[in-house]
Amino acid sequence: MSAAPRLAGVIGWPIGHSRSPALHGHWLRRYGIAGHYVPVAVAPDRLEDSLRALALLGFRGCNATIPHKEAALALAAEASATARRIGAANTLTFRPDGSVFADNTDAYGFLANLRQAAPGWRAGAGPALVLGAGGAARAVVAGLIDAGVSELRLANRTRARAEELAAHFGAAVAVVDWARAEDAAEGVATIVNTTSLGMAGQPPLELRLNAAPETALATDLVYQPLVTPFLALAAARGLATVDGLGMLLHQAAPGFEAWFGVAPEVDGELRAAVLAA
Ligand code: NAP
Repeated sequence: MSAAPRLAGVIGWPIGHSRSPALHGHWLRRYGIAGHYVPVAVAPDRLEDSLRALALLGFRGCNATIPHKEAALALAAEASATARRIGAANTLTFRPDGSVFADNTDAYGFLANLRQAAPGWRAGAGPALVLGAGGAARAVVAGLIDAGVSELRLANRTRARAEELAAHFGAAVAVVDWARAEDAAEGVATIVNTTSLGMAGQPPLELRLNAAPETALATDLVYQPLVTPFLALAAARGLATVDGLGMLLHQAAPGFEAWFGVAPEVDGELRAAVLAA
């Protein structure tokens, strides 16, 4: 008798638009693994029961997306230092007793994407300007600090939210006013949009980059569209640009390895499969 197929999935509410099933499905086929990765719609008030049910059904683990990232961390029996530092979890693994180990791979995915797409990029080459102070920004700030950024300028429409994030991450993070973000691009090595501006259906992020050195790298977490208005502006100014799809692909790899036992590759084929889905 052959072993039961391995199971994993992604929980969210809603979950219909998630690209994760296409992404993991590609890797399962590519590595010939007998397994399934399924989207599961989990209402906010059913998280705990749903995790218990998935563990009981034999799932190895799951990704958690909006609105479960913070609550999943709170429910976990154990969490990685990274997840605790970011204050949210996106990768959950069920232990033999059904309890949850929570990790956050967004900071890893953010850095792995930049390192693959812009091999010459060095976090420590100069200050970073981060736009936005939501959940994704926490992962980006953690990643940039870990990668050696010594000065991080943080601008958010709601200043109080940026101040809260700066207080959490310490002296390397300095809050700048949203209205002064363009000036704050002076001398930076890295500029990151972590706001939802520029996403299909949202207004564009209109940030003139005249103050940014031509050696700076601009990257956007938004990947629908792939070339956001912000990345188009940055490219027109002559900056190197990296789109946000690679972060989504890379953040998925540690979970796939934990649940299906293979360290998967992030390459052009995967990118094409996810774009076609
Ligand atoms: P979030 O927690 O809701 O934060 C949204 C951020 O966008 C906040 O900083 C918010 O500012 C800002 N914002 C929204 N509308 C704005 C406007 N009209 N003007 C100025 N700022 C505005 O969302 P999140 O989870 O951080 O996600 C942010 C984006 O990153 C989304 O587009 C998401 O799809 C993308 N993302 C991509 C990846 C990837 O793998 N590539 C991973 C995670 C997230 P306020 O605080 O002032 O509201």
